[in-house]
Amino acid sequence: MTDGKLTALCNWRVTVRREEVSAVVAQIFGGEQREWQTTGADRFEVMTGTSKVKILLAGPCAVAIDMRRWSRGSLVHHCDGEWFLSPESRKGDLCGCPHSIVERKARVKRGLGPQPNVDLSFRLVDAPDLGVFRMKSISWKFAENASVLKDAIGSALGESVCGLELEAVELKGGTRYVKPVLRSLVGYPADVERNPARPGALPGGLGHRH
Ligand SMILES: [Zn+2]
Repeated sequence: MTDGKLTALCNWRVTVRREEVSAVVAQIFGGEQREWQTTGADRFEVMTGTSKVKILLAGPCAVAIDMRRWSRGSLVHHCDGEWFLSPESRKGDLCGCPHSIVERKARVKRGLGPQPNVDLSFRLVDAPDLGVFRMKSISWKFAENASVLKDAIGSALGESVCGLELEAVELKGGTRYVKPVLRSLVGYPADVERNPARPGALPGGLGHRH
């Protein structure tokens, strides 16, 4: 369960469950807090004034990456690119996905293959006591990016400070989109590193649009 999500437009959009959390988010990152129409529990949103957020990742488990194909509301292929992760009866069996990204994308286009699903769980460096936020992405590039970072923080002791940033990209022909990028940051004040992660309910999250 999360209290919120963070979404990328040009700047991050944060949605949270509790008004007092959205007030803190607005204070730190700028922007107005307000209620928005949702059937979820994250009733409050903040359209922040920032495209860069510093986050704390509590080890490689905080970066969940898998591959999923949905059909008519059912998860019909769930793997790590090589082995099935579910259902239980097929878990650990070879899934048959090709190794190359190009072939994997081609299979998605033909409606045959799964696409990446990245789910980050993190605390905010600027407000670690607010609890754990989430950000999800189905971008291939972000999955590659997150995979490299997951390996990089695998040997780190304690939490790793990373930057979650939005970059505007302009294609030939003028099409613009915003892509999320995850960067490893070093040299952040040690007092944040010493502040232990709090177990318990997830207070918020972070999401994005492509
Ligand atoms: Zn597969």
